[in-house]
Amino acid sequence: CGVLGIFDKNLDIPRYIYWGLFALQHRGQESGGMALTDGSDIHTFRGMGLISSVFSEGVPEEEGHIGIGHVRYSTTGSNNPRNIQPLAVYTPMGQLALAHNGNLTNTRILREELDKGGATFQTTMDSEIIVNLISRSQKETIEERIMESMNRIHGAFSLVLMTKDKLYGVRDPHGFRPLCIGRTENGGWVLSSETCGLDAIGATFVRDVKPGEFVEINEQGVKSTIFSVADRKQVCSFEYIYFARPDSIIDGQDVYQARLNMGREMWNETQYDADLVISVPDSGNTAAIGYSMASGIPFNHGLIKNRYMGRTFIKPNQKQRELAVRMKLNVVKSVVRGKRIIMVDDSIVRGTTSGIICKLLREAGAKEVYMCVSAPPIMYPCFYGIDTSVRKELIASTLSVEQIQKYIGVDKLHFISIDGLCRSISCIPREDLCLACFNNDYPTDIPLANEEGEKY
Ligand code: 5GP
Ligand code: SF4
Ligand code: MG
Repeated sequence: CGVLGIFDKNLDIPRYIYWGLFALQHRGQESGGMALTDGSDIHTFRGMGLISSVFSEGVPEEEGHIGIGHVRYSTTGSNNPRNIQPLAVYTPMGQLALAHNGNLTNTRILREELDKGGATFQTTMDSEIIVNLISRSQKETIEERIMESMNRIHGAFSLVLMTKDKLYGVRDPHGFRPLCIGRTENGGWVLSSETCGLDAIGATFVRDVKPGEFVEINEQGVKSTIFSVADRKQVCSFEYIYFARPDSIIDGQDVYQARLNMGREMWNETQYDADLVISVPDSGNTAAIGYSMASGIPFNHGLIKNRYMGRTFIKPNQKQRELAVRMKLNVVKSVVRGKRIIMVDDSIVRGTTSGIICKLLREAGAKEVYMCVSAPPIMYPCFYGIDTSVRKELIASTLSVEQIQKYIGVDKLHFISIDGLCRSISCIPREDLCLACFNNDYPTDIPLANEEGEKY
């Protein structure tokens, strides 16, 4: 998901939230919305689909100087209109709205506890647990209540919250998901999942929210409190591989440069002799350019993407996903005909995309198809907010690299090594990167799949 918050007395807040969310749209296309205040009440405006269709009839008119917004990527909680964020609730301390990116790992325990205490839930989102905890806390101030609740939830959470006169930001102690702080031209404040959200509204980057940090923003500026320190910082490596936009900088690491490095590392690891490097657009573009630059093998556009389609992974079932790939990608026959091709993509999840594309390339006359993937094999589910959670659907969890190569029909297949990936994300120390979906090294307790205590 993507989250955004603005505190500024001189901006048209609804319009700026809209633009910021528009820039974060790649982080979720299922639904979206914003919470705004007129100074005395908080109102939410939300809907299914892209931000442009949620607000197809224009953005709301609210005079207040605070707003938060959310774009949703479905993980826990099904694709359901009830699960749209931001959530807004009445607490004993007044109204509170929240937008959450990430996924909690102790949901079941907290939910049972809240159920016993008589709490009721309107959604299946773990985010609703957070507002319940805040609401039921016995602490005196809203800030203390939030921080107390943050110490009870585990897993991944980058949050923006608002009351009618304050904006807050939180990043979980591991820092799985990004969150940064920016300043508007008027000296107001912005919280955004990624720096591309700041760029879109003309705000300048100030700093990243630290893992375990709670920030409170009001007229006086930003007040910071570290509410918890984890034994290890764990930024999601998949943000750099795929999820984040390449023009963002996360925790000091330029995403574009990391992807170029991934391409270079893959060249060092493969040294494939070929005529042409192509990418699976758009997610494979930067790594493909990196491979081409390092190898001297020319890059060309062998596949064209229909730019009016969203991310295919999001489609709910296998048949629909397959149709979507064909709609989304087509081959430039004159480019690939008779060539030995290195095709670069960011990841193989179920194997749908690469299998279909390989077939299309061969039909168009490609002589050989070699594939390089800038994510190591995804063998374990993510419990921290990326939708690779059903293990049996992860092709690399059941098939070896050779079997995958056969399954998708390429002549050679290479996945970047974990070492190569870590070197590529050169500004982040290796021990600070989450690699759990590749190496099973989960930095937190994870929810058990069943009563027998099986993991997944
Ligand atoms: P596959 O077809 O193997 O299931 O998926 C691989 C394709 O899906 C890649 O082109 C990659 O860009 C994209 N992809 C990988 N992981 C994710 C994800 O978590 N979310 C979305 N939306 N797309 C993904
Ligand atoms: Fe990212 Fe994988 Fe860790 Fe999930 S398990 S947070 S996708 S690195
Ligand atoms: Mg892709």
